[in-house]
Amino acid sequence: MAKRLVISCMDRRLNRYLDENYNDGNTLFLRNAGANAHCMLQSISDAVSSGSIDSIVVLGHTDCGAMKVVFDAIVNRNSSYCNDIKSKIVGLFEDYAYLKLAGERLKLIDQEKRQKAELGARRRLERRNVELQTSFIRELAKSYPHVKVEGALVDLKRINALNLKGDGRHAVILCRECGSRFDQMCSMAHTDPSETYVLESRSLAETITDLQLAVEVLNISDVRLVATNPSSTEELAIDLEFVKKLSSGFAKHADIAIAR
Ligand SMILES: [Zn+2]
Repeated sequence: MAKRLVISCMDRRLNRYLDENYNDGNTLFLRNAGANAHCMLQSISDAVSSGSIDSIVVLGHTDCGAMKVVFDAIVNRNSSYCNDIKSKIVGLFEDYAYLKLAGERLKLIDQEKRQKAELGARRRLERRNVELQTSFIRELAKSYPHVKVEGALVDLKRINALNLKGDGRHAVILCRECGSRFDQMCSMAHTDPSETYVLESRSLAETITDLQLAVEVLNISDVRLVATNPSSTEELAIDLEFVKKLSSGFAKHADIAIAR
């Protein structure tokens, strides 16, 4: 049974980094848009209460798409995001005074300097996200004093993944929590790891808002369910119907299939 729980973002540019630095066979992963622990309450609670986890690591990252959505919604006042994204992802930062002030300040800066200032404000938001998720988990795990909780912001530039190129055919793989390597999961799904966003949770229902972000914001239409543990065809078929039903409102043009 896994000893460490890593909560990270679904971003495709983290796959190799997580495999090389954390995927040691004793680590369980949960991944969604922005390493959002609030949206994986059930999965985290189940993992902690199982008694087998002795450390939890929250890994946010720079240039995070989920934080760009938060920034766009609050600073640029873009109100076009769906209600689920607004309440579950943007909502966490609505009281973050710095971001509102940053919006006011950015308006006063000329175009030339604005890009750099915006980057600085986004970096601060990304750090804030890690702090917020980490303190939420500390609170959640306070009855388990042996569980060590820490957070870090992975700098994509430092790990040479900032401009990771592929052929642009992005896919999402959806998986119940597991300890498999991401390159193996992508191989099972016949997708390229550098093109594959990974949504991973104990409960597939917890990943629906993140799937919506992938489909509506990132325009990904290729969604595959991967089972790394031996599951019966029947269980996978039930998962497939479940995900299709929950995503029917937004995934009309997405191909959702079981990877075999
Ligand atoms: Zn991200």
